[in-house]
Amino acid sequence: MQYKTVLTTCPYCGCGCNFYLEVLDGEIKGVIPCKSGAVNQGKLCIKGWNAHEFVQSPKRLKVPLIKKNGEFVESTWDEALDLVASRLKEIKEKNGPDSIAFLSSAKVTNEENYIIQKFVRAGIGTNNVDHCARL
Ligand code: SF4
Repeated sequence: MQYKTVLTTCPYCGCGCNFYLEVLDGEIKGVIPCKSGAVNQGKLCIKGWNAHEFVQSPKRLKVPLIKKNGEFVESTWDEALDLVASRLKEIKEKNGPDSIAFLSSAKVTNEENYIIQKFVRAGIGTNNVDHCARL
């Protein structure tokens, strides 16, 4: 039996609480709040206490899905990204950049949110970008 803990940051909101993932035989079993975490100082909200549960969920999507003839079918990342890029280009050319909007997520890092707003403003050419924490 192999047991270890891995220090990480909670993925559920922008507070950035730290905890240790408890890993038993390669499977995440639970979390232990980090007492030296500058933000949470040993505390977690209910989401943080359960943040490990989705990792091994059988319901988790592992490949992109594309709707074809009304049904979602498994795809590759190359196919999915090519489709998104071509549809964005098509919509922008036909209706202008302000016909497109992006919603980012509280579950990604500040750096990832920075990248998406930069892509939207500099790449697409619109200020239509928002974040799920404001919804
Ligand atoms: S434990 Fe709760 S408050 Fe802390 S980062 Fe996670 S979701 Fe946010």
